[in-house]
Amino acid sequence: MTNAEHAVVIAGGGPAGMMLAAELALQDVDVVIFECRPDHELVGSRAGGFHSRTIELFDQRGVAERFLEEGQTAQAAIYATTVLDMSDFPTRHPYALGIFQNKIERIMAAWIAELPQIKVEYGREVIGFAQDRAGVQVRLADGDSHRAQYLVGCDGGRSLIRKLAGIEFPGWDASKSSLIAEVEVTEETPAGIRHDEIGVHGLHVMEDGKTVRIVTAEREIGPDTEPALEDLKTALTAAYGTDFGVHNPTWISRFTDMTRQAATYRDRRVLLAGDAAHIHYPAGGQGLSLGVHDAVNLGWKLAQVIKGISPDELVDSYHAERHPVTARTLRHTMALTALQRGDERSRALAEEAARLAQIDEARIWLAGIVSGLDVHYDLGDGHPLLGRRMPDLDLTTATGGSRRVFELLRAGRPLLINLGEPARLELGYWEDRVELIEAGYDGDWVLPVIGRVDAPNAVLVRPDGYVAWVQEPGSDADLTGALTTWFGPPTPPA
Ligand SMILES: Cc1cc2nc3c(=O)[nH]c(=O)nc-3n(C[C@H](O)[C@H](O)[C@H](O)COP(=O)(O)OP(=O)(O)OC[C@H]3O[C@@H](n4cnc5c(N)ncnc54)[C@H](O)[C@@H]3O)c2cc1C
Repeated sequence: MTNAEHAVVIAGGGPAGMMLAAELALQDVDVVIFECRPDHELVGSRAGGFHSRTIELFDQRGVAERFLEEGQTAQAAIYATTVLDMSDFPTRHPYALGIFQNKIERIMAAWIAELPQIKVEYGREVIGFAQDRAGVQVRLADGDSHRAQYLVGCDGGRSLIRKLAGIEFPGWDASKSSLIAEVEVTEETPAGIRHDEIGVHGLHVMEDGKTVRIVTAEREIGPDTEPALEDLKTALTAAYGTDFGVHNPTWISRFTDMTRQAATYRDRRVLLAGDAAHIHYPAGGQGLSLGVHDAVNLGWKLAQVIKGISPDELVDSYHAERHPVTARTLRHTMALTALQRGDERSRALAEEAARLAQIDEARIWLAGIVSGLDVHYDLGDGHPLLGRRMPDLDLTTATGGSRRVFELLRAGRPLLINLGEPARLELGYWEDRVELIEAGYDGDWVLPVIGRVDAPNAVLVRPDGYVAWVQEPGSDADLTGALTTWFGPPTPPA
């Protein structure tokens, strides 16, 4: 039995686990991922992509191009039957990216393999843990035991970590189920999405030209067991009158609209992120994005506590910020589920909703939710930027060059951007933790959904890209207080 020590153990190397590891590595924190799959390959393609804010988060880390090169951008946010065109949104990425999850995970696995602070151990299943005041002892199926300061369960919707921590998972049971599969067919399949009284169905010929990806609603909620080819044939026949001669499946799986969210994302030294913390119907394609957002919110906070910069309470802000914004997204996916019902009354409602979503204000509001660009962490009252994402402005720096804000965020350091008279702000004690940028910007400040806002004189931007403090011209907002809250007190905590 080995008894290795790590700052952080992550159970589960899916998108949330890999993103969290990357965020910790960026802060120079040693982290190990235990993943029970033999390697990063996924059986089946799973998720079909992610949304604008997720592309931005990857952009903040300098890897967005890796995904953009392998996927296809599209206006893919759909409400009822209306496409929520967001091409006029104030972002460099006013679209969603269509890219299957097996490709996403391949790209992420290659990226984190470049980061020396991360160890990824495949074929290793976490089976238990015990936490005490100083750390967590993590047990693996092969008898090994590892000690960590923190354990993060990124182990998916059926999370063992969540169950063993005794964290409640309240929410709503399934009201419908669907099958998803990749198969070969003997008959030609119709393209596009079909809505009927059973639900939503779609058939899509994959890149190889012979495999068809099928998503088909079932007439009754299927059992909580692995579906078989026969189940797929039954569901297809009910929806299309033929099973298209499906054969040779590489993947058949069942998903439902069960919607649940962990009552707390933290139990002392054990945290949850991604599907381990929330599950929902995949309509709207939110799951993978939510896990990436969780990881980006948690990573720098956990790192600062581990490095003794901030008190342990900083990590509590992870639940305080992420739980409410995710709860709202879950409600949105529940609304989408209701709009997909096939009975006449629900279809009448969906027709009206589709019309309403074409009204500009409604379109913008809905696209803000779906894209993740309207996320607002409640950091108190003040300028609309407070708690919202920092726009990726082209800043003119003191040296006369132009720098994008997202490029400046790539090192994962907080930024104090002074846009007023140069050399008015001093970082003092926080000089080694925060980067002071003297810059100019004379363009408009336009926030997604909110619209134009007053230009600030200075902003403090957290490593996750959210604004923690705003100085408006003529105001004396408390910079020292904000620096202490987010980047530790002048005297390091005991
Ligand atoms: C049909 C379908 C379509 C979807 N479409 C979209 C979409 O378009 N866009 C989108 O954003 N999301 C979509 N999703 C959701 C998305 O797939 C998930 O939300 C996402 O995979 C969650 O990532 P995660 O890292 O939290 O969990 P997972 O991807 O489930 O990863 C968890 C990992 O933990 C490992 N693990 C589990 N237990 C242990 C253990 N005890 N020890 C070690 N390892 C363990 C697992 O092997 C797995 O690799 C879709 C889902 C489905 C089913």
